[in-house]
Amino acid sequence: MYDDNNIFAKIIRSEIPCDKVYEDDDVLFFYDINPAAKIHVLGIPKIKCSNFADFIEQTNEQTIKKFFNKVLDVVKMLGLKESGYRLITNSGFNGGQEVPHYHVHIIGGEPLGRKIN
Ligand code: 5GP
Repeated sequence: MYDDNNIFAKIIRSEIPCDKVYEDDDVLFFYDINPAAKIHVLGIPKIKCSNFADFIEQTNEQTIKKFFNKVLDVVKMLGLKESGYRLITNSGFNGGQEVPHYHVHIIGGEPLGRKIN
């Protein structure tokens, strides 16, 4: 069940500030508070979904396509398309997910090597 009091829900409601990269009615992209690389942005849909499975199973194809199109737009906006980047979604306990609102990490700005988180 979705937790309305998770940190990203509060960020969507502007109860907690964030350093925004892009926002519209459906999505929000903002800088990670604890960056894993020179550029580290989080992308979230504004609908209530706890994890990747919820996002795919409880939304429609148009919502999913729009979200990932915006991920690509932000990748371009950040100047990462040519230099390269990594997209990460952690899911569940073993996946190391800390915040129970579906999100994509966009990481880049320097060589990331083979590390995966
Ligand atoms: P997860 O481990 O759930 O995939 O990633 C959660 C991410 O959210 C972490 O990289 C963490 O640094 C980031 N984070 C946690 N709290 C906040 C916050 O209040 N503001 C921002 N901008 N990022 C946060």
